[in-house]
Amino acid sequence: GRLLILPAPSGAGKTSLAHALIARAAEAGLRVGFSVSYTTRDPRPGERNGVDYHFVDDARFEAMIAAGEFLEHAGVFGRRYGTGRAATAEALQQSDLLILDIDWQGARQVKAQWPEAIAVFIAPPSVEELERRLRGRGQDNAATIAARMAAAEAELAHAKEFDHCIVNADFQAALAQLAAVALGPHSERAHASS
Ligand code: 5GP
Repeated sequence: GRLLILPAPSGAGKTSLAHALIARAAEAGLRVGFSVSYTTRDPRPGERNGVDYHFVDDARFEAMIAAGEFLEHAGVFGRRYGTGRAATAEALQQSDLLILDIDWQGARQVKAQWPEAIAVFIAPPSVEELERRLRGRGQDNAATIAARMAAAEAELAHAKEFDHCIVNADFQAALAQLAAVALGPHSERAHASS
């Protein structure tokens, strides 16, 4: 399968885009997998263990690093995130397209090991709009939002390192661009049938 990496700051809308892309790819008859990362952060309301993330403690995360179980891992605002190596290899075998929703540090590590992976940076229309979206989500306190904004600005500095950059100002337009890059000729077919 093809590996699609979606680095983006939290709040850029990449999770919604990824889910819409999965639906569109499924309509085109493609098997799309979504990699479930490991993280040491707490679950947000509504998030489910094993579905949104594998929520683990620091000790478990450290043990996984020591055992070489991560394809990549990185620290994002004081919490740790990583992609399981075995699960990724297996998912790639079973899907036409596997999506990794990871940050720029992880994207860089994956590109180094898997140069044929496509890395598409998803950017918010502006820093102000990003802050509005993070507040509107209503899931995080002020300190967390401030930390996420700082991380987002750091993330945005890396937008140009990747194969493509899509500005998510209009959701449908961003989805069309992402589908064109990720699905190629299949995106037209999926669109025509939807
Ligand atoms: P959130 O906590 O908002 O779900 O994610 C915060 C940031 O961590 C996002 O930029 C997200 O892409 C990134 N992230 C999520 N999972 C992974 C992972 O497995 N590896 C890396 N490097 N970053 C991740």
